[in-house]
Amino acid sequence: MRMSESIDAGFATRQVHIGSAAAQATPRTVPIHLTAGFTFDAFDDAAAHFGSGDGFGYTRTGNPTVDAVERKLASLEGGAEALLLASGQAALAVALLGLVSAGEHVVSSTHIYEGTRGLLLDNLSRAGVTADFVEDIHDPDAWRALIGPHTRVLFAESIANARNDVLDIAAVAAVAAEHGIPLVIDNTFATPYLVRPLEHGADVVIHSASKFLAGQGAALGGVVVDSGRFDADRAGGRFPQLTESTRTGGASPWQRHGGRARMAYLRETVAPRLGPTPSPLNAFLIGQGAETLSLRVERQSANALAIARWLEGRPEVESVDYVGLASHPDHALGARYLRGGSGSVFTFTLRGGIDAARVFVESLRIITHMTHLGDVRTLVLHPATTSHAGRTDEERRSHGVHPGTLRLSVGIEDASDLVADLEQALVAIAARAAVLERSAA
Ligand SMILES: *Cc1c(COP(=O)(O)O)cnc(C)c1O
Repeated sequence: MRMSESIDAGFATRQVHIGSAAAQATPRTVPIHLTAGFTFDAFDDAAAHFGSGDGFGYTRTGNPTVDAVERKLASLEGGAEALLLASGQAALAVALLGLVSAGEHVVSSTHIYEGTRGLLLDNLSRAGVTADFVEDIHDPDAWRALIGPHTRVLFAESIANARNDVLDIAAVAAVAAEHGIPLVIDNTFATPYLVRPLEHGADVVIHSASKFLAGQGAALGGVVVDSGRFDADRAGGRFPQLTESTRTGGASPWQRHGGRARMAYLRETVAPRLGPTPSPLNAFLIGQGAETLSLRVERQSANALAIARWLEGRPEVESVDYVGLASHPDHALGARYLRGGSGSVFTFTLRGGIDAARVFVESLRIITHMTHLGDVRTLVLHPATTSHAGRTDEERRSHGVHPGTLRLSVGIEDASDLVADLEQALVAIAARAAVLERSAA
C-alpha cells in the first residue's frame, strides 16, 4: 500500500515518498519511464514476473518506453520482434553472441563497418570464434566456398560503405538457407524505409539506431529485429542453446517460443547478462525520431542524388560512388532492392588527393565535419585518415578509399544551399593551390 501524501512523517521520509508518483493521465507521446524498476502491486505479482518474465520488474529486463520503441521498429522492419540496446555495437555483439559459440565461425562480407570488423577480429576471436571475409559479395559461390561445418552466421550490410555496394539479399539468403544458418543484415545505411531485408529472406536485421532511426544525432542506440522464423528442424542441431533444455533443466527457447526462439534467447540469456541496456530517455528520443523516418530518408535521398549528379559534372571531382547514379556498378541491383530513394551516404574522390581534401573540408560552412551519419544535418568525413586509417593502402584502394575520397551523409537542408556550400569549397581548392604556387615561385 502506498504511503498517504498527508502522512505525518519525518523530513527524510517525506523527501523520498511524497510526490513520488505522477497523477493518472494519458499522455499523447510515449512517457519516459526513467526508472530502475517497477513496483509489484500484489505479493504474488513478484513471483509471477520472475517465473514468466511477463510484465515489468527491472529496466535491464524490460521497460515500457523501450518496449514501445521495440514494437515500432519490429513493425517497420516487418519482423516478429525487436530488442533495443544501448548502441549499434551492442546490437551487433548481442545478436552474434546469441548465435555463435567457441569453435564456431562467421562468414562476413569484407565491406563492413570497421567497428563490426573489430568485434569479429579482436573480440569474438578471443572467445574462439573465427571469421572469414567474402570479397566478391555478388557471387553466391564466393559465400558458399567459405562456409564450413562450424559456420553459424552469414553477415553483410544491405548498403555498404565506402563503395556503396548493394547486397543481393535474396541470393545470399538462399545460400544461408541451404546450410540451415541465418543471414544477419546490418541495415543501418538503408533503413527499413528503403529496404526490409526480412522480406527478401534474411533472418535477423541490425541497426545502429544512433543514425537514421533517431535522426537527430542526440542519442545512441541499437536494435536487433528477428523474423520469428527460426526452425529447429532446418537448423539441424546447430544451435543447441536454442533447442536443448536450459542449464537449470527448463524447457528450451524453441519449446517455449517456437520460431521466436532466437529472440527469446537474446532477451532472456544474452542481453540482460551482458547488460547493454538502453536508457529509457534514449529510447524515447529514438522513438520520436523514428516517427519521421520516411520523410527524412525520402528528402535525404533526393538531396543526395541531386548532389551526386552535380559533383559528377565538376572538373575537381574524379569519381562519385553513389548507387543512385547510373554510373555505379550496383545501380540495377539498387533499383531492384531500394524503394523510394538510394540513401543519403556516399563517397566522392577529389583529383587533388589529401591536400585538396583538407582545403575542401576546412572551407565548408554549412556541412559539418564529424564522424556520424544519418543526421538531419549534412556531414563530411575523410575516411582515409579516420574510419579506414587502420587499413593498408591496398585494402583502402579495394574499398574505394583514396587520399582524395570524402564521405558525405546528406541531410534534409535545401539542396541548393548544400550545392552552394560544396561549390565554394571546390573553388577554394584551386584558389589555395594558386596561392601556394605563387609563394613557391
Ligand atoms: C554506426 C554504425 C554501427 C555502430 O553503431 P553505434 O550506434 O555507433 O554503436 C554499426 N554499423 C553501421 C553500419 C554503422 O554505421
